[in-house]
Amino acid sequence: MPELPEVENIRRYLLRSRIVGRRIVKASVEWPRMVKSADFEGFVTGVIGRRIAGVDRHGKYLSLPLDTGWLGLHMGMTGSVRVAAPVDPPERFIRAEFRLDDDRRIELIDPRKWASLWLAGDPSEITGGLGPDATDPAVTRAVFTRTVKRRTAPIKQVLLDQATIAGIGNIYADEALFIARIDPRRRAATISEARLGDLYEAIHTSLNHALRHIEEHPMSDGRPYVVDAYDDRMRLPRREGSPCPRCSKQLRRHAFGNRSSYYCPGCQR
Ligand SMILES: [Zn+2]
Repeated sequence: MPELPEVENIRRYLLRSRIVGRRIVKASVEWPRMVKSADFEGFVTGVIGRRIAGVDRHGKYLSLPLDTGWLGLHMGMTGSVRVAAPVDPPERFIRAEFRLDDDRRIELIDPRKWASLWLAGDPSEITGGLGPDATDPAVTRAVFTRTVKRRTAPIKQVLLDQATIAGIGNIYADEALFIARIDPRRRAATISEARLGDLYEAIHTSLNHALRHIEEHPMSDGRPYVVDAYDDRMRLPRREGSPCPRCSKQLRRHAFGNRSSYYCPGCQR
């Protein structure tokens, strides 16, 4: 699933593609269930004629401020975005398309159809339920430690809770816990402040590493490569029984709800 580093790279790609200042002249949504705001018709007619004023991100959500209202996008499990030139043939799995006044198209591509779209009068309608972004400078080491220390749930679940801190998903939570040597099943409140401080650093290490990796490995047309949990940006192999890269013990898998955590029983405590 696209997490903070992937979505941030999509944001930067949209800025590089100079969509800001362009007007949406046509919109189509092939999969109406993606539209989470108001009515479907109102979405399509509402975005037509609007000028894009920026590209913002909060957690895993993109919001494009328009001259009136906000266009929200969430990539779901497999969503990605392409800005296509008039000569570019359409991709497979285009679920929504916004034609710009320079004839280019912003395409929302999503094989699994779990992406979401909003047209909102206020950004809080899109991201109001989220905690602060994981990379927000206001989330200092001290704020992180205090916030997490209050929680009795397993640390993995606390990291995944977007209402606590937004942007960390399954993969980077596992990475950070591995780097900080913390067992994902440990109850947050029982972890020492020093180790939560290590975890804070590890979250930033893994997010920044992924941000750079994605930026340095674009697709041939310049857009960011969609996440692949098995590529070499990861320190922790996501395969049960494979050897821990640090201590060689066999990695284990633990399910939190429908999410699989991978961890090392030897060096994560
Ligand atoms: Zn280990």
